[in-house]
Amino acid sequence: MKILAVANQKGGVGKTTTSVNLAASLAAMGRDILLVDLDPQGNATMSAGIDKHDIERSSYDLLVDRVPLNKVVVHADTSGIDVVPANSDLTAAEVQLITVEGKERRLREALATCSKPYDIVIIDCPPSLNMLTLNALVAADSVLITMQCEYFALEGLSALLDTVHQVSESVNPRLRVEGLVRTMYDPRNSLTNEVSAQLHEHFGDLVYRTVIPRNVRLAEAPSHGLPAMHYDRYSRGSRAYMALAGEFTKRQQIGVQPQEN
Ligand code: ADP
Ligand code: MG
Repeated sequence: MKILAVANQKGGVGKTTTSVNLAASLAAMGRDILLVDLDPQGNATMSAGIDKHDIERSSYDLLVDRVPLNKVVVHADTSGIDVVPANSDLTAAEVQLITVEGKERRLREALATCSKPYDIVIIDCPPSLNMLTLNALVAADSVLITMQCEYFALEGLSALLDTVHQVSESVNPRLRVEGLVRTMYDPRNSLTNEVSAQLHEHFGDLVYRTVIPRNVRLAEAPSHGLPAMHYDRYSRGSRAYMALAGEFTKRQQIGVQPQEN
């Protein structure tokens, strides 16, 4: 079981869109996928076709009350993935865990009790380097960073990489950076190309070749509770995420080692 955290403390950089569509694309390739929503906004939950207002248990219960994983997981029929859903309940988790010893290990412990043999667990992180993101980094084998190629894109990256480094030096030595995915990519914008060039210079092979274009279908699909490939299979957005799933899989197979940081 490979555990992948999709992270960036910036909001609106395509974490949720990538988590959901990568999950659906990998599921369509026959992999058993668990999507864990760690954002109180519950957007990944809704995008996967689960109504966040209508769930009995959520990642809050998993983290705070240690409800067993199999009691929290719901199956999303439309996308064929299992989901640990989230909603605004999760906002309280951080405060409730404040004095708890080993609070950053709650997700890791929950996933360790997983009895279903998932191939890949994808964790959608909130837009902040808080206790929830820390739980994801402590549980994960690697981090996939999504980013938009815009002016301040690189600025927040060092804080995230520092955190990844700290976690890998302490609680979770397995943790690696899986790669960087450029989202909402517009090659006609000269800044995009400039930032892309900088990314390649700093991060080399860690930069995924697949780019996710700006595509309205990707923005529309969540309102139908569908991953893009089940909403408009031939859209550029869906095809880009299928390509991303292909590249992700290929990197595992040929063993492009997620780099040490
Ligand atoms: P994050 O999870 O990092 O906050 P989201 O995945 O929620 O980012 O994306 C932010 C907004 O941009 C959402 O409304 C989403 O539908 C939209 N969006 C994300 N990726 C794309 C894309 N490639 N093309 C068009 N819209 C996108
Ligand atoms: Mg999000």
